[in-house]
Amino acid sequence: MTADFMTLAAQRIRIVLVGTQHPGNIGSAARAMKTMGLARLFLVAPERPLDGEAFALAAGANDVLDGACIVDGLAEALAGCHRVLGCTARSRRVALPESTPRDAAADLIGAALRGDVALVFGRERTGLTNDELHLCHGAVHIPANPDYSSLNLAAAVQVLAYEIRLAILAGAELDRDRPGDPAASHEQMEGFYAQLAETLDAIDFHKGRAPDSAMRKLRRLFNRASPDEREVRLLRGVLADAQRIARIAADRRPAETPAVPGARGLD
Ligand code: SAH
Repeated sequence: MTADFMTLAAQRIRIVLVGTQHPGNIGSAARAMKTMGLARLFLVAPERPLDGEAFALAAGANDVLDGACIVDGLAEALAGCHRVLGCTARSRRVALPESTPRDAAADLIGAALRGDVALVFGRERTGLTNDELHLCHGAVHIPANPDYSSLNLAAAVQVLAYEIRLAILAGAELDRDRPGDPAASHEQMEGFYAQLAETLDAIDFHKGRAPDSAMRKLRRLFNRASPDEREVRLLRGVLADAQRIARIAADRRPAETPAVPGARGLD
């Protein structure tokens, strides 16, 4: 994905509110969305139309309310989405894989790279019906106080929107750090390992021990990180400097550490 990772990811996420009873909650949800950079609001058969209270509580997120798609059924709101997660205040209510908001956000951002995704919220009084949950691929539960686990609808939207924001920011950073550099080839990694082995010798890292075990562990570590070409060049630059400093230290050593303490003055 390219530079506009954030915009694209945010545009592909639908927030779907089903059967909302209080227009004020829709306004607060719109505000929660906008603060986190989300704008695509779907309202499935709200009980009452958007009113003054909704706009007052949106507090400047009027554009999100104005742009809301109002539809009759959940299936309509989900048309074109290939990944759908439903938020439930009660844990383990349905036989759906359940995740935390953090994992759900990562899941949705990953899926948003391939197309539209949706996050569904239920009614204030009764949540989502089982039929509605069955349209979802997974459930999300905010691990709240088990004795009092039901958040206000807009507060639940805020928690999820925040996690989505963090996931998008993390994704954007990865994207910036790795602007499509190809993964280092086998030969490049072997070149790096050869230089690493030479450097460890030059800085006397092994101190008489056999080098094999340390090199095996270091290979495992760097293979796990699967650096790209640019990162391998950076690592080799660090090694080259360490080798240079080791050479300087080796050249200076006889003069700075005379064989007999205090012998220098006698020369
Ligand atoms: N009394 C309802 C709660 C509805 S709260 C019930 O027991 O289901 C309105 C909506 O906010 C819920 O349908 C859900 O989508 C979301 N929500 C509230 N608390 C939540 C929680 N702890 N985890 C996930 N979603 C929650």
